[in-house]
Amino acid sequence: KRPDIASPVRTRAIMETYGLSFKKSLGQNFLTDVNVLKKIVNAAQVDENDDVIEIGPGIGALTEQIAKKAHSVLALELDDRLIPVLSETLAPYDNIQVLRQDVLKADLKDLLARHFDGQHQVKVVANLPYYITSPIILHLLETGIHFEAIVVMMQREVAERLGARPGTKAYGSLTVRVQYQMNVQVAFIVPKTVFVPQPKVDSAIVVLDPKEVQVLPQNEQLFFKVVRGCFQHRRKNIWNNLLAFLGKQTVDKEKLQRVLAELNISPKERAENLAINDFIHLTNKIIDFNI
Ligand code: SAM
Repeated sequence: KRPDIASPVRTRAIMETYGLSFKKSLGQNFLTDVNVLKKIVNAAQVDENDDVIEIGPGIGALTEQIAKKAHSVLALELDDRLIPVLSETLAPYDNIQVLRQDVLKADLKDLLARHFDGQHQVKVVANLPYYITSPIILHLLETGIHFEAIVVMMQREVAERLGARPGTKAYGSLTVRVQYQMNVQVAFIVPKTVFVPQPKVDSAIVVLDPKEVQVLPQNEQLFFKVVRGCFQHRRKNIWNNLLAFLGKQTVDKEKLQRVLAELNISPKERAENLAINDFIHLTNKIIDFNI
């Protein structure tokens, strides 16, 4: 029996056979530690009830480990050089489909309808290309697809931002945007030494699962704008950020003061000390007061 794709010997052999080089511009750092890959699949609790989307299969290291547990896998890879490689390395598995696709341009709802049977829960499991970590996460959240879990490897620093608590330096508009929809757990840290080539920073596995319905903003787009507006200048208080965001000249300052007073939020407060629900209530009051 052949060793797993991710094993260092096999990875080296595949790269040599196909004369492949790593494309830095595509974030190609391949995992060569089978145990780490198994831990990722375990963290996602992948089993035969799951159809899994994988972003960036590379030479198929993680794809193989997912396919051993899942009902099926749909892997989206941008680098066309890797498509013939994947069709060979993943040939032993009959539950994998590989598409040449830029994930950021993918209509994921449409892909799911065409490639999955609709009878299984859908998860995302991936070792992300780090140059587009946040855009990919936001793209996934904006699809409106109910993902049972999104379990992804990313640079440690971004993982810490996603999982941050209010009052910390890492807490920002990305944190609020993601935690608005998902519970975030940083499952474990992965040292840079298990990749080829080695990236500059350590990585982390993040587990996202959908939040139970909470208080909802009356207008989601406005909510996202309020969050970004409040974090615009991190060192300014929310009063100044809100004025800048709503229009210093035109906004009714008295109304805005009343909004904050009713929410028990001091105008001197900084965005990093507001919880997600504070931003939701703030959005709704801005609408109620017709500001
Ligand atoms: N899954 C493999 C592993 O764990 O060893 C490779 C992970 S590597 C960090 C990221 C992969 O994403 C690369 O194969 C890269 O070509 C691919 N990729 C980069 N940009 C992409 C995009 N926009 N859409 C889909 N795949 C992309």
